[in-house]
Amino acid sequence: MNKKILITGGAGFLGSHLCRRLLKENNEVICLDNFFTGVKENIIDLLPNPYFELIRHDVQEPILLEVDEIYNLACPASPPYYQFDPVATTRTSVLGAINMLEIAKKCKAKILQASTSEVYGDPEVHPQPESYRGNVSTTGIRACYDEGKRCAETLFFDYQRQYNVKIKIARIFNTYGPYMNQNDGRVVSNFIVQALKNKDITIYGNGKQTRSFQYVDDLMDGIIKLMNSSDNFTGPVNIGNPSEFTMIELAQKIIELTNSKSNLVFKPLPLDDPMQRQPVIDLAKKELNWEPHVKLEDGLKKTIEYFIKVIND
Ligand code: NAD
Ligand code: UDP
Repeated sequence: MNKKILITGGAGFLGSHLCRRLLKENNEVICLDNFFTGVKENIIDLLPNPYFELIRHDVQEPILLEVDEIYNLACPASPPYYQFDPVATTRTSVLGAINMLEIAKKCKAKILQASTSEVYGDPEVHPQPESYRGNVSTTGIRACYDEGKRCAETLFFDYQRQYNVKIKIARIFNTYGPYMNQNDGRVVSNFIVQALKNKDITIYGNGKQTRSFQYVDDLMDGIIKLMNSSDNFTGPVNIGNPSEFTMIELAQKIIELTNSKSNLVFKPLPLDDPMQRQPVIDLAKKELNWEPHVKLEDGLKKTIEYFIKVIND
């Protein structure tokens, strides 16, 4: 075995991909999750593997584990879920970061934080480089997530300066793929499920807001490269796909790929919904020799295949 690796949020969309990838690379994986948005089905195939352990635990509470590396992914990522119990969301990011950093400090483990493009808020600089400090509301309904993630970044840097903890911070841009929860509420899963059921496709606002969508396999390559990068490279580093689309373009592409009869319907835009988002990835290219390869159409096809199976089960 190579390393003993803790993945918090390991039963979620991204966490389950990471568990699979790191087991394949001959590591021992401990998946820690409180199953708020994650589900056992995402990792059920891994349970018989003797090198895989599952722990039901909430990162808001301390825990001591002996590991070599920690990927800290625990946190609901979809707006309806992180806004459901906003105090718990902030606590998960802030106390979760402290509790995981304490493990890293005690066992000298390397720790990677799943940060987010949301630290840029509704950006006034476009596209967004890591040097941009963001335009985040401290009081709005997205703040529990955005400010929690910003504070987690602060804690990571303070643990590094104060206690020499080896840290890595990935600012992840909108990612999609198989194992997203069909009721998750995020745009790609919503549109695909609606299209497959020939139901109305719900466009929030006028649909001209943009996002840059990255396929999950590209993200996995990026964060594993970041974890394995030299100790003096901490990030924060953007990990995302710079090809940018409006929500209307995304809906049209999904209708085309699913041969759907769905119509577009327009619903109110949620408060503080960012109007644009696109990563600058020069730093990731230079420091990690990483860039995304999967085109939206190809990634959507694989995601659609997955949802066809889930819906028919
Ligand atoms: P997800 O909701 O599918 O997964 C989050 C996982 O964390 C779930 O399994 C959930 O049960 C678990 N969790 C939540 N609160 C917890 C707690 N207090 N204790 C233990 N476990 C807890 O979301 P995801 O898309 O897989 O996101 C994973 C991480 O990546 C999150 O931290 C998210 O902020 C970050 N991220 C994701 C994206 C994206 O587009 N998917 C973009 C930016 C950042
Ligand atoms: N969105 C939409 N219809 C939906 C779900 C989301 O038009 O059914 C929009 C949402 O308002 C936002 C974009 O799609 O502008 C991306 O939303 P998501 O929740 O996936 O991610 P985030 O806003 O956190 O980037």
